[in-house]
Amino acid sequence: MDNQVEEVKKKSNIVNIVSEHVALKKKGRNFVGLCPFHSEKTGSFMVNEELQIYKCFGCGAGGDVIKFLMEVEGLDFGEALEKLADKAGVKLVDRVKTDKDGKRELIEVHDLAAEYYHYLLTKHRSGEAARKYLAGRGMNEKLIETFRLGYALPEWDGLVSYLVDKKRYRPEVLVAAGLATGNERRLYDRFRGRVIFPLYDISGRVVGFSGRILPAASQVTQAGRPNNDEAKYINSPETTIYHKSKMLFGLTIARNEIKKKNRVLIVEGELDMMSSFAAGVTETVAIKGSAVTEEMMDILSRLTSTFVLALDADAAGEAAMKRSIEAAEKRGLSIKMVNMVGGKDPDEIARKKPHEWVEMVERAVPIYEFFFDKAIARWGADSVENIGKIVKEVVPYLSKVENSVIREVWAKKLAEQLGVDKQRVYEEIEKVRSGRSQTEEKNVGKNTSSGRPSLDLSIIGILLTSGEELVERTKKMLLGLPLNGAVGKLVGLIFDEGGVWKAEIFVKNLPKELSSLAAEAYLLSTGEEIDEKEKVKLTVAWARGIIREERAQFAEQIKEAERQGNNVTIGNLSEKLVKLNALERKLALA
Ligand SMILES: [Zn+2]
Repeated sequence: MDNQVEEVKKKSNIVNIVSEHVALKKKGRNFVGLCPFHSEKTGSFMVNEELQIYKCFGCGAGGDVIKFLMEVEGLDFGEALEKLADKAGVKLVDRVKTDKDGKRELIEVHDLAAEYYHYLLTKHRSGEAARKYLAGRGMNEKLIETFRLGYALPEWDGLVSYLVDKKRYRPEVLVAAGLATGNERRLYDRFRGRVIFPLYDISGRVVGFSGRILPAASQVTQAGRPNNDEAKYINSPETTIYHKSKMLFGLTIARNEIKKKNRVLIVEGELDMMSSFAAGVTETVAIKGSAVTEEMMDILSRLTSTFVLALDADAAGEAAMKRSIEAAEKRGLSIKMVNMVGGKDPDEIARKKPHEWVEMVERAVPIYEFFFDKAIARWGADSVENIGKIVKEVVPYLSKVENSVIREVWAKKLAEQLGVDKQRVYEEIEKVRSGRSQTEEKNVGKNTSSGRPSLDLSIIGILLTSGEELVERTKKMLLGLPLNGAVGKLVGLIFDEGGVWKAEIFVKNLPKELSSLAAEAYLLSTGEEIDEKEKVKLTVAWARGIIREERAQFAEQIKEAERQGNNVTIGNLSEKLVKLNALERKLALA
């Protein structure tokens, strides 16, 4: 098994795997991006290809490719290994099958259910009406395949009998998966007579479904009851694997496009997403519900910082958008709104006029401008009183803009639109801000972890990246310097090796307690950016720090020995002290 783990790791490239979740930029020897494990505006998350590791200097997260996949996709070790093995084309001999919390089984039944629904839609006679419906909505075969759409029979136990009778799953598993309701004696399918949209998690596994009723079916009565009170859409309930607040429909398909176009279009429904995608706006995802949650922002902001919204701007939708502004500003996101005309939703516009839809998305306006227009349309900027109302409505949002220059630009824009003095608007904004900052100041914690590399790390980094000659020179220069602790030990090992190695091999063969320190130093290393003189200067400063500490310790020990009258110890220590002083003099000349 261990061999296979190594083989999978060897054949996987951490840069490619991380890239699926984080937009990375090459910077020196590393790739840098926004950390997927904590919220940040500037990248402190680094990936190193030679060492095949990642490390975040903001939150401390770090490890190898398997750990990354486990953490970012919420997989256990076996699942992560399997996924990597599949990608790398490695056949695992004995698979690690653990299913402590039953999640694996839920995922299995979802996968089978998706297959079952997809078969009914594409191959089975009973899928005819659904096929017609989808064709009428502009969904061709390729789209149906790409999104693996399906159809649920109008029966009470179509899926239940497939999974329980044929595939031998226990009824309670189906209930836990949200695919069926009822009890052991009578179990019903949750989705009946509906077009089925599989919902994928961030790892690309089906974890839930959304079912849309067929227009024809809603007119038919079922069980003698009029059917028009049935919901147009029903969704999987929250389960241990499905979470509505994190669900972004289409993400697995749009992910690369989002990175490539450096923008994501967010719409509200599955059909909106698919139609927009088919029209050529391939960077589209759909949210569940009307709010872009913080969890969704976390996932998307690693891929791009430009969010374009095409959401229903009714009162509820607008309130939801306003709630998310603050979170978006904190992340440094730029949010734009599509002004939708010529149809009731993205699906209709994109389907009827695909070119216009593409242009409409291009013309999206910054969200603040969108709010201005809304407020002005609501109140009418025709009296002092109404202008006051507009300002009062818009200012709280403008006050959340973090960048002061941008804040001022918006203040000016609003003032111009209302025909008032820009200074007055700006003052209103600042008033709201100062009120808020007073309460915020009290909440500021003492987070002093600056993420700046220490001198220790810099020295190790320099030694690891500068080659044989410099290592030899430094070794000579520092001869006699006491090398203690992990850092000292590591420097000692580098000197022993004499610099005739490839850093990645050296780091890999280190004892565990030293290898992460070395990897960190290597990642942070600026060794190639500074010249030799600078390197020597840093090394001298570092060595002098050690000498100072050591001398202070000797002084203490000598004092103690004097108190005890231990002349031998005094003699030994004094000798060491003399050597240290000599080394310091030598360093002063370096
Ligand atoms: Zn982090």
